[in-house]
Amino acid sequence: MLQILTISVMMLFEAGVSSPFASSGLENQIFQYIDLHQNQFIESLKEWVAVESDSVQPRLRQEVTRMVELTADRLQSLGATVELVKLGSQKLPDGQSLLLPPLILAELGKDPQKPTVCFYGHVDVQPAKKEDGWKTDPFTLTEIDGNLYGRGATDDKGPVLAWINAVEAFRALKIGMPVNLKFIIEGMEEAGSLGLEELIKAENQHFFSNVDYIVISDNLWISIRKPALTYGTRGNTCFFVEVQCGERDLHSGTFGGIIHEPMTDLIALLGSLVDTSGRILIPGIYDDVASLTEEEKKLYESIEFDLEEYKNNSGVQNFLYDTKEGILMHLWRYPSLSIHGIEGAFHEPGTKTVIPARVIGKFSIRQVPHMNISIVEHQVIHYLEDVFSKRNSPNKLKVSMSMSAMPWVADVNDPLYTAARRAIKTVFGEDPDMIRDGGTIPVARTFQNITRKSVMMLPIGAADAGEHSQNEKISRHNYIQGTKLFAVFFLEIGKLHRQLQEASNMKTTN
Ligand SMILES: [Zn+2]
Repeated sequence: MLQILTISVMMLFEAGVSSPFASSGLENQIFQYIDLHQNQFIESLKEWVAVESDSVQPRLRQEVTRMVELTADRLQSLGATVELVKLGSQKLPDGQSLLLPPLILAELGKDPQKPTVCFYGHVDVQPAKKEDGWKTDPFTLTEIDGNLYGRGATDDKGPVLAWINAVEAFRALKIGMPVNLKFIIEGMEEAGSLGLEELIKAENQHFFSNVDYIVISDNLWISIRKPALTYGTRGNTCFFVEVQCGERDLHSGTFGGIIHEPMTDLIALLGSLVDTSGRILIPGIYDDVASLTEEEKKLYESIEFDLEEYKNNSGVQNFLYDTKEGILMHLWRYPSLSIHGIEGAFHEPGTKTVIPARVIGKFSIRQVPHMNISIVEHQVIHYLEDVFSKRNSPNKLKVSMSMSAMPWVADVNDPLYTAARRAIKTVFGEDPDMIRDGGTIPVARTFQNITRKSVMMLPIGAADAGEHSQNEKISRHNYIQGTKLFAVFFLEIGKLHRQLQEASNMKTTN
């Protein structure tokens, strides 16, 4: 009873205050529709969350496929042409092969006068078990105090549905869509997006050929309250540093003091990478880092970022920087080097007087624009070999790059961003934080690299949504306002595209 009461009070609240910033009658009509149907939208999310589409555990693969098919049905009922693309299979570590879930390519509208916006999202989720520390069943969407708890609520079923809900509002109100839409929806994102890059390459001249803009909604704001637009992510390069002296581990009582120990070499090598101020000591590593422009500098000023809370969440008292700008720039636009571990080192509790014969140090460098991966690889190898050679050690050194991903940055003045900014202002009444992500989200870079279209990440989840974590949630507010945001975004990008086209037509006729 209490639950129902809270919902109806929330609904009144939503209906009363949700659209005070809307300017046009059309927008108000759409907002009203979305407000009135919010419980229905939540019901859809409940159905989706109930499918345990965990792409990480092979035994749940059937559920992922079922989720993809459910999504395809939903898109079909919107009037979209839907294609389920087979992606083949993956090889599991035990040698068995497992069928990948199909990927959705869908299309709605083909008017050459309108821009074509392609939406990317995923309907698979991270594993979740009640015993992990969830206060509710992870696969039963549960509303508590205006928050909708459930695995996938924010990552990424909520945003995918919000996009679908927005289209539904246009259809129900018989308002013509201002854009042509395309959907690319996968079921393997949480397991490394297997098959996605090959598919984008294969479809570049087909599915993507008439796409104007690509929108990804699969990340979070940096604030709990203030919306954000994401225009960049860092890349990554991972390195192995292997030092070997012989074939067998040795006893320190029998050999300690008479040999060059590999661990000692390795610690010295790892210790030479970063200084106490966090600066990477590899010569030339900062040479290609994009210089900071006044325009970019200004973007940091208005960002809502609670440094104290960030510190509290980390459990660390002192950071290397003590201003918001210092922290954000070093997370987003400067490279960083982290040391992760040593393979072959004794790491159990207690004492073992062993001299490991072979140890492998592991570290990574977060790449930023315009660093070049192969140059970084060369610089790292050259530097470590140089440091090693000065040690006069007879041990064998091998440095290799195990993984790399490019950084991504977009032009914040692109029409895509202008339209999204306007839509955010209309729905939320304020300008968004223009943010980047310190981590690596390869999909944005992949889309941009292969298709050469403008790409934007338009999140609707708040900073406390807990993606990948226990008690993942999306708030009712974010889900419903997010639906409105996508609807207004369609109107804004449609308008802007038309204006740009008219302007370019005028230029050619003059
Ligand atoms: Zn995701």
